[in-house]
Amino acid sequence: MHTDPDTRGRDEIIRCAFCGSTALLVVARGLHHPRVVDHGPVNLHVCDACGSLTTWPVPSEQALRQLYAAFEDGIDPSLRRWRGDSPASAWYEYAARRATRAAGVSGDTAFTWIDVGAGAGEIGATLNRNFPQASGISIDWHGRPASLAADSRHDWMACDLNAPRFARGVGAQADLVLALSVWEHVRDPEDFAREVSSLVKPGGTLYLVCPDFGSASARALGRRWPYWIPGEHLSVPTRRGARICLEHAIAANGMVARVFVRPVGIPYSLAYVLSYLGFPALGRLLRGVPAFPLPVGALEAGFTRLRTARLTADDRR
Ligand SMILES: [Zn+2]
Repeated sequence: MHTDPDTRGRDEIIRCAFCGSTALLVVARGLHHPRVVDHGPVNLHVCDACGSLTTWPVPSEQALRQLYAAFEDGIDPSLRRWRGDSPASAWYEYAARRATRAAGVSGDTAFTWIDVGAGAGEIGATLNRNFPQASGISIDWHGRPASLAADSRHDWMACDLNAPRFARGVGAQADLVLALSVWEHVRDPEDFAREVSSLVKPGGTLYLVCPDFGSASARALGRRWPYWIPGEHLSVPTRRGARICLEHAIAANGMVARVFVRPVGIPYSLAYVLSYLGFPALGRLLRGVPAFPLPVGALEAGFTRLRTARLTADDRR
């Protein structure tokens, strides 16, 4: 490994997307997207300070638009097909449960949510189904999907999540702000963290899930790690990188908050795993086996914003 000489002298300074360090090491060059092969090439860098993965130069907005245009509702069609064989509802139920637990809401709590990078709106639908007093807004690059049932408690907003200050256009804050599998896709994770953080009400909670580049799975599997998707997963934090980035976002918004960052299992059905590994027929045969959380190398991160403007002695403990 050595410092990339090609990027010296560029107008923009190459820095870690999460901690801001300029000590980056090139780990791969000239990679293309594994399925959309004309997307790329990209170079990948690892931060020497926090260990996070960064793509530099970042693909243009136009290149990313073309990549996602090849997908349906932002999800790679082959992944969606396998999920059709073994529905991902277990994941949405699990994520909704973990996020609401982090936010301290129970079944009869009236609360608002904002789901950023909502895909087909599954997480919002799950929250509203499980929490009769909940209501919220799904936000994504695309408009409301036809597959999403009309619900007066579930609004939709189309918004460019790569645009600077995109959160200002939302015009609302919520008790629970979620972004599941989004952080690794955006062009500027620092900007994104600041924007989603600004959507959290006093007393509210931010809940993010993304791949963890410092996980044992990432280290053991290398380029066979399922989240190693050059050109699409542009920035993948370690737990340290995620924490520093959130702390910066909280400070930038003038907030006071308690940050959490920890590993999280992702529930996949056996059928999905077998399909992913190249045995779809066997997967279909075992469709009835329930999903269970697997240590695939993901993290959950976020914070609970305090109602006070500064930490009390109790909060510091
Ligand atoms: Zn870093």
